[in-house]
Amino acid sequence: MSNKTRNSDRKTIQGTLDRLYFLKKSAPRFLFWVLLVLYFFCNLIISVASSSGAAIMIGGQPLPFYTFAGVFSSISNVCIIIVAVYYGKQGFVAALTVLFVQLPIVTMSVVMGHNLTSLPGVFINVMTVGMVILIYRNNKKIDDYQESLRMQAVTDMLTGLPNWFATTELIEELIKKKIPFADVTIDMNGFKVINDTMGFDVGNEVLIEAAKRWKAVADGGASGTIDFVSRLSGDEFSLIIREFESDEDILNSIRMYEAALKDQMDNIGYDFFLTASFGYAVFPYDCGTMDELISYSMLAMQEIKKEASSEHIRKFSKDLLKKENTLEMESKIMNALENDTVYYMLQPQYDMDHKLRGFEALARMKDDDGSFISPADFIPVAEKAGLIDRVDSAVFRKAAAYVGELIRETGSDVMLSLNVSVKHLMKKDFLVEISNLLSSSGIPAEQLELEITESIMIESVEKAMHCINEIRKMGIKIAIDDFGTGYSSLSYLNNFPAHLLKVDKAFIDKMNSSDSSKQYVAAIITLGHVMGFNVISEGVEEASQIETLREIGCDYIQGYVWGRPLPHEEAGKLVRESVKKD
Ligand code: C2E
Ligand code: MG
Ligand code: MG
Repeated sequence: MSNKTRNSDRKTIQGTLDRLYFLKKSAPRFLFWVLLVLYFFCNLIISVASSSGAAIMIGGQPLPFYTFAGVFSSISNVCIIIVAVYYGKQGFVAALTVLFVQLPIVTMSVVMGHNLTSLPGVFINVMTVGMVILIYRNNKKIDDYQESLRMQAVTDMLTGLPNWFATTELIEELIKKKIPFADVTIDMNGFKVINDTMGFDVGNEVLIEAAKRWKAVADGGASGTIDFVSRLSGDEFSLIIREFESDEDILNSIRMYEAALKDQMDNIGYDFFLTASFGYAVFPYDCGTMDELISYSMLAMQEIKKEASSEHIRKFSKDLLKKENTLEMESKIMNALENDTVYYMLQPQYDMDHKLRGFEALARMKDDDGSFISPADFIPVAEKAGLIDRVDSAVFRKAAAYVGELIRETGSDVMLSLNVSVKHLMKKDFLVEISNLLSSSGIPAEQLELEITESIMIESVEKAMHCINEIRKMGIKIAIDDFGTGYSSLSYLNNFPAHLLKVDKAFIDKMNSSDSSKQYVAAIITLGHVMGFNVISEGVEEASQIETLREIGCDYIQGYVWGRPLPHEEAGKLVRESVKKD
């Protein structure tokens, strides 16, 4: 660390210390001089009054001037004691100096001038000297104690490095002054094993040794950048790097700290090599606040640690955040599944005469704060994390139980469409699950529909075909969801044992914008009919789209124009009304 920066770091930490040291507010400087002047003034009056024979008349009685000497002597002593109490070392020196200058003068007046009236003055002078020394010693003890408390607040006691508090102070200062810096979070690799197998004492020695080596690198200045190394907690350290010109400079500096650990740690009675993981983020390029910076560098460190490769340094990148969000979402899904809080909504589907065909069950999840999490966010994560079958099953179980009950109550012929992930469908007990679902819910098989996305025809049609045929054999309907978004070949489509083709919203959105878009949807519908499927259009939002779809021969409609996804009670009302109409 260069002298310039070491000084500036000291200033920062000193600032922190001073703020911590709120107990000791220094008394105003001008008062110091006022007290000294008052002291000398009183002594002047004492010497004039004690040698004067004059008197003043009070209440007809003459009061000699020398009787006032005692009063001024008390005032002067109070002045000198205040100076000693409130002005630390300077006050102590000043008080002793004036007292020691005065003592021989007063003593001389007693000895040489045989002036016994000054004897109490000598006595008071000696007593005051003793008192000033006592006050100083006592103040010093308190000061030393407070100083050690202050140092403890910013120092890590085990390694002697600055601690977390000092680090955050420095970061805040650098951010405030807009000075670019890299925040590096360091975590020892395998430190827990050292602690567990060799004991805490060895663990502590390792930390002390690592801190010593890193401090030597930081103080040596060989890295070419200006570095501040500190211990945050446990085996976690931090490095703040300044005055770099490129990312390469930062990396080179970190490599020096990495290399400092390379030598065997044999000086602590055990032979082993230690490595650490380094994650870093750069202010102001990666983020602008301390919280972000610390969490980003920590994230980068955790990422490189997880990889457990021979590379131990990772720079933060936005991709890591996505991963982080994915992990967070994964744990939210897990929690929702554990607590059985995944629920569903039912979106109505109608024929072209606005007669209710049925409902699509759509999975829903709420965040801890009660806010709604979109399936567009959690379904893909559930797919990747292998949790989608559990999400599907939760919706299957709950929606089928409700709609089964509704059908028994009303005798309605409404369909229940359930979205099934290809991954779920491929599971070997899928058919058992579906047949259990039919028996537990009591839904007639022909009123149950499974929606499978078009992607199945591209990725896994062969493997899935057996399962889909079995489902058909049970009497359950099959719908091809999001049709048109994948690139399935016509030959697959021709052989696919589906009943319903769901035209994706993307085509419906564009449909009325040009004649060719309209003809495209018309062609899909015709194709579906040629292959023997019914066709439903998804995401219909406008009345004009209904007209077009009617004109080009669409069979069914699902969209906000006739109904948004509803809580099940409202879907129940729709069914009861539609049964009454029939
Ligand atoms: P999807 O199966 O294509 O479902 C239709 C989506 O379009 C639903 O979104 C629905 O709310 C939305 N939608 C319907 N009409 C309109 C409209 O007029 N305008 C607009 N803007 N949107 C409309 P949601 O509920 O967000 O679901 C998104 C996707 O999540 C679903 O698309 C489906 O692929 C998946 N998903 C939902 N629930 C489940 C489930 O239980 N299991 C599986 N595997 N996937 C599910
Ligand atoms: Mg669907
Ligand atoms: Mg769809």
